[in-house]
Amino acid sequence: MSRRSLSAISRRRFLTAAGVAAAAGCVSPGELFAQEDALVQNAFKEAAVAPLTVQKLRRNITVLLGAGGNIAVLTGPDGKLLIDAEIVTASPSVAKAVAGINDDPIKQLINTHWHFDHTGGNDWAHKAGASILAQENTRKHLLVDTRVEGWKHTFPAAPPGAIPSTVFTEEHTLHANNTALALRHYLPAHTDSDISVHFVEADVFHTGDTFWNRNYPFIDYSTGGSIDGTIRAAEANVAKVTDKMIVIPGHGAVGGKADLILFRDTMVEIREKVAALKKKGLSLAEVIAAKPSARTDAEWGNGFMTPALYLEWVYQGT
Ligand SMILES: [Zn+2]
Repeated sequence: MSRRSLSAISRRRFLTAAGVAAAAGCVSPGELFAQEDALVQNAFKEAAVAPLTVQKLRRNITVLLGAGGNIAVLTGPDGKLLIDAEIVTASPSVAKAVAGINDDPIKQLINTHWHFDHTGGNDWAHKAGASILAQENTRKHLLVDTRVEGWKHTFPAAPPGAIPSTVFTEEHTLHANNTALALRHYLPAHTDSDISVHFVEADVFHTGDTFWNRNYPFIDYSTGGSIDGTIRAAEANVAKVTDKMIVIPGHGAVGGKADLILFRDTMVEIREKVAALKKKGLSLAEVIAAKPSARTDAEWGNGFMTPALYLEWVYQGT
């Protein structure tokens, strides 16, 4: 068991994964954590059993909160439109939750970026009747085997049905179910494929993974992400948000303006502290030991990213 793979998993997830593996009787915790890409393997396992919370927002918009990326569902006479599609192993529970909203057929899917916890259900959604729309870099990454160094995992090219059939570069507007959806590409942030989706009339805003509500975010340096880009996108979200806007983060609870400001401020604070320590000549291990994120670790470091992992991504980019 390497220190790295242990550090990749929070205690909560460790307990969950160990329980699942033991219940399945197929793999011992020792074997599980011998895997270098334990974080991704653990996400697959957790998504297979994690419950989905269904939360109605405004007008005809519902959000599904589970182990992977948050899914928004727009219902109406044109059929259901989904924003993101979760981890592939969550597909049966996503299908059940989406069907539970009403009888509208699934017609469209928009991916906020290419990551496996947002596009894993693409093939399932396509088979269910959805055409898929995304930023062009999402299609580019899904078409080929893509290594994410931060997760120590190489994702194989997606099956043909999972590839977005329509892509755009910077901005795209579409209309469905009496709703205007304004899609906008961020400058490289969490990846190079991130978009936001604004449901204009309802003023509901899905940020994809440019916003993690009270969770440290992953930063995918392998496909264009960076800490500076993450903060630049956080600034753009703060500039966009209105007092009444409902904001759906990529991960974490549905929030609003104050949560976006808190995220931006927390990202900036930790980057400045890490940069100052690095400038003094401290190694990554020494920076982690100095606990520059201590103020928020208890709340923000319990999810996908542990404090040590998050500090590693920040250190890499400062
Ligand atoms: Zn992501």
